[in-house]
Amino acid sequence: MSNLIDWFANRRKSVPQTPKQQEREIADGLWTKCPMCGVLAYTKDLQANQMVCLECDHHLRVHSDERIRQLIDGKTWQPLKENLLPTDPLKFSDRKAYRDRLADYQNKTGMTDAVQVGSGHLDGLPVALGVMDFRFMGGSMGSVVGEKLSCLIEHATQEKIALIIVCASGGARMQEGMFSLMQMAKISGALHRHREAKLLYIPILTHPTTGGVTASFAMLGDIILAEPKATIGFAGRRVIEQTLREKLPEGFQTSEYLLEHGFVDAIVPRTQLKKTLAQLISLHQPFSPINSQEEEPQTTIDNEEEVINNNN
Ligand SMILES: [Zn+2]
Repeated sequence: MSNLIDWFANRRKSVPQTPKQQEREIADGLWTKCPMCGVLAYTKDLQANQMVCLECDHHLRVHSDERIRQLIDGKTWQPLKENLLPTDPLKFSDRKAYRDRLADYQNKTGMTDAVQVGSGHLDGLPVALGVMDFRFMGGSMGSVVGEKLSCLIEHATQEKIALIIVCASGGARMQEGMFSLMQMAKISGALHRHREAKLLYIPILTHPTTGGVTASFAMLGDIILAEPKATIGFAGRRVIEQTLREKLPEGFQTSEYLLEHGFVDAIVPRTQLKKTLAQLISLHQPFSPINSQEEEPQTTIDNEEEVINNNN
């Protein structure tokens, strides 16, 4: 098998492709070009490595379906509130009517709004999981995103299970004005009740996590994880520089900078994410598996006694 893979790899190197051929294959989705190092990778190889570049470790963007596949054990995913649809309370229109914009994104992504929520098993452990999808209007948080996440958190509180939210967002959704800003308080309130029930919440900050999402649930975790080199911040660099009239340090809105300054607890490469989450959640289980294991030596002793008795 590995010989066959080598053969393909060598063949790939030896046959120079014309730029036109390359473009066509990229368009077909057969190959993906790393936006960081520019190396072309066979999309299937890249997917097998969880969309992390095999050359430079750059974490390419992952949409919500793929993320759920990466984290949740096969056939255990149960979506929640799938039929919740966004409305247009302000009858908002910029270059395009908000209603039309929503319809476009729904057609393009097959999603109703910018988040998927549900429950399932992560390495056999029950979890509630929310995954934001940057493809849908930049993962912006409107009423539907807020309502779905609040329902998810309430579900986690009720079922007494750990909560994970994968964040990827440009912030609050301008087209819903005040309604989208109110979601920050609503989600934070639901998280407070989850916390009062002494349950674990882990947000995962991926590229980019900004605006109202950073200002609410992204930063309210018990343990805050981030993917390498993700942009994490509230306002954009230019806005802050103009307000403070100060030059900001290089790379100040990255996972690495935030880890150094105590806003993030750990940077976890995507290929290690599921394993790390499973370890953290099992450490925080109210009924540790250690308790059930304690009974096992007892049974062996009983058996030994039985053996001794039988021998007698
Ligand atoms: Zn790369």
